[in-house]
Amino acid sequence: MTTPPFDTREQDIIIVGGGMVGGVLAHALQCEGWRVTILEGAEAGASLSFDHRLTALSDASWRYFDALNLLDETTVRAAQAIEEVRVVNATNFGMTRITRANNEGVALGHVIANRAIGAAILRAEQAHHASVHNQGAVQRVQPARYINHQPQANGRVQVMFDFHGKTQQLSARLIIAADGAASSVRAASKKSIDTKAYGQTALVCTAKPAQPHHGVAFECFTKSGPLAVLPAPAGRVSLVWVNRDADIPALMALDEAAYATQLDAVFRHRLGGFSELTPRAAYPLSLITLDDLTAERLVILGNAAHALHPVAGQGFNLCLRDVRDLVAALRSDRGEAVDPGDAQRLRHYVEGRLDDYRRTIGLTDQLVRGFSLDIPGAGAVRGALLSLTDGLAPIKNRLVRLTRGV
Ligand SMILES: Cc1cc2nc3c(=O)[nH]c(=O)nc-3n(C[C@H](O)[C@H](O)[C@H](O)COP(=O)(O)OP(=O)(O)OC[C@H]3O[C@@H](n4cnc5c(N)ncnc54)[C@H](O)[C@@H]3O)c2cc1C
Repeated sequence: MTTPPFDTREQDIIIVGGGMVGGVLAHALQCEGWRVTILEGAEAGASLSFDHRLTALSDASWRYFDALNLLDETTVRAAQAIEEVRVVNATNFGMTRITRANNEGVALGHVIANRAIGAAILRAEQAHHASVHNQGAVQRVQPARYINHQPQANGRVQVMFDFHGKTQQLSARLIIAADGAASSVRAASKKSIDTKAYGQTALVCTAKPAQPHHGVAFECFTKSGPLAVLPAPAGRVSLVWVNRDADIPALMALDEAAYATQLDAVFRHRLGGFSELTPRAAYPLSLITLDDLTAERLVILGNAAHALHPVAGQGFNLCLRDVRDLVAALRSDRGEAVDPGDAQRLRHYVEGRLDDYRRTIGLTDQLVRGFSLDIPGAGAVRGALLSLTDGLAPIKNRLVRLTRGV
């Protein structure tokens, strides 16, 4: 029998999914001294998370990245600060603005490529390994596809996975499902989910605007769905245009110039037009939630626990708050040894997350439904609502809090 090319000794924690959430979580846990193994289905160095998308990180998420030493010079250079957010109505009047002044004078957040986030995680992981003083460690096993897991009588959990066509197993005290919206761990644990398909798909690409973006992020409500124009590094913008599923084939069939013209038209020429578009990628959108986020020696988080519409750019920011709170829940208060799979700690963590889920998921869903109405006069109502929002402190404050990620 050949020895597998990974450390088969007992782990503290096994994370299934080494994407944006699994990656940050593993690094955060190793900083606290835990020995962690990531089982990631994609080839070494890759993940479905680290594709061509860019992510808007709220100011709170950006500060959390900093606390985890993820913001080295390379990462900071790869990010674009958001100076202002404008929520606008495509066809009619109405606008609400959130500026630095709403965030104690600092940038509202940063836009960064998912690939740059992936690279930042790997660099931080390696820097941690290189320091002899550090206790915790992350082992990445790739490509490793989760098959099943089984809690044991000895306080361990056995995790079976496919590695290069062979079934392998590892044991730990806690398994964490960070394997995304179609989570296999969640399915194997027989957790029932609530899925609401929006009947919408997001088309994503980047482009060069004719006029400088000045760090302004636009959320533009169009008849078919919201269009996000996010300021990106090197003077580019990230374009996330949500449309009805039925309209996607025709939009995907347009050549680059025709698609750029359509975008410019719905965006009302605000940045003078777009050129140098990258190929479009399509993401069908649903809201996925579940009530039961733990089981024996298991916790489910990130997109495996809640997949959101990207209208408010909240999905990953919400996931990062899962990471922050779980890491805190597993921390020892008085230097005593902690069992990371302790049911009470896991329950405490989940109970602490529910309010944030309700607020963030609720507001995101309200935005989608409220601004996707395609009935006569809806554009005028949207415009009026946006104008009101700018003047009504309580509603605007909710939007500001959502944007800042607090
Ligand atoms: C168009 C779009 C734009 C978005 N923009 C923003 C934004 O601006 N701001 C924001 O906060 N959020 C945004 N989001 C949300 C954000 O992308 C997600 O919240 C985030 O990617 C969730 O990360 P995750 O690691 O939980 O899941 P995923 O990214 O899905 O990663 C899951 C990982 O698990 C692995 N995996 C899956 N199954 C298995 C298995 N059986 N065995 C082993 N590994 C497995 C996958 O290979 C993958 O690496 C956006 C989403 C979309 C669709």
